[in-house]
Amino acid sequence: MNERPDLSLVIPIYNEEPGLPELERRLRATLGETGLAWEAIFVNDGSRDGSLSVLKDLRAKDERIKIIDFSRNFGHQLAISAGIDHARGRATVVMDGDLQDPPEVIPDLIARWREGFEVVYAVRANRKEGLVKRLAYRVFYRLLKRISNTEIPLDSGDFSLMDARVVERLRELPERNRFVRGLRAWVGFRQTSYTYDREARFAGDPKYGFSRLSQLALDGLFAFSEAPLRLATLTGLVVTLGATLLAAWTLFKRVIQYEVVPGFATIAILVLFFGGVQLVTIGILGEYIARIYTEVKGRPPYVIRELDGLAPRAGGGDDEAA
Ligand code: UDP
Ligand code: MG
Repeated sequence: MNERPDLSLVIPIYNEEPGLPELERRLRATLGETGLAWEAIFVNDGSRDGSLSVLKDLRAKDERIKIIDFSRNFGHQLAISAGIDHARGRATVVMDGDLQDPPEVIPDLIARWREGFEVVYAVRANRKEGLVKRLAYRVFYRLLKRISNTEIPLDSGDFSLMDARVVERLRELPERNRFVRGLRAWVGFRQTSYTYDREARFAGDPKYGFSRLSQLALDGLFAFSEAPLRLATLTGLVVTLGATLLAAWTLFKRVIQYEVVPGFATIAILVLFFGGVQLVTIGILGEYIARIYTEVKGRPPYVIRELDGLAPRAGGGDDEAA
């Protein structure tokens, strides 16, 4: 295997066949200008179209293009994690494969890294997506910032440059539930932002539907905050206080004023209300338990069918024979 590259790119790919040649063209042009030795690690996340064969063609023409082929679709965050596990560069850039993260920004990220920053994360100045989706993103990132224990920067996605030291620390984190932008914030180091215009997709459809986006959002919230549990405690306290006041009032009516407080409706409403509160609380507990369960099972986070141009890494879910 050749020398350690200056720069590794990690690019998750799920059904991106139509856009790949354009991505490669723009990457090659931009990276050529930097004069750095680079490798581009494409992680094929169980694509159902011809993405893999396009990647193989690209690799046949250029050894610097490397492929991790997953045995099935494991999802964007795990594809990124696999790339990070195998990146050997002095710095690693993570970017989407749909050209929403413009390759032309990479030299600017590198410039900030050279200034001494160990993490340069790209922040979206604008999004070219529908109003509802934009609003949902806004609310989510602001909520996450308020309640998370880690300072996760607003509107930063996975697009970023990380120094090899940061990449090394990320690799060592044992958790399977990987919300990469959160983990990246958690490891610390000197971090800075770089603002860019997020482009529209070059080709194809977004692979994140509503349910997968909400899944990602919940993973982020539950992995980086215990606030939902505290919310349950808080609700419990408030409700108990309310019940105490109500009891005092009822007693006052009965004993002092000789009045019986009528209350079939009140009872029915209270029963339903507490039923609701308790179920929500159990649900919150369940979210944490489900995550504990995934971690405890200890399955590898992803399974690789084949590594092309990369050495297997111990403990990264790699097949030794690859
Ligand atoms: N992706 C992936 N696995 C998936 C879904 C998406 O590797 O299960 C890749 C996809 O090919 C793209 C990137 O992750 O390179 C971001 O996906 P997408 O554009 O659908 O997400 P969005 O930009 O809407 O957040
Ligand atoms: Mg996209």
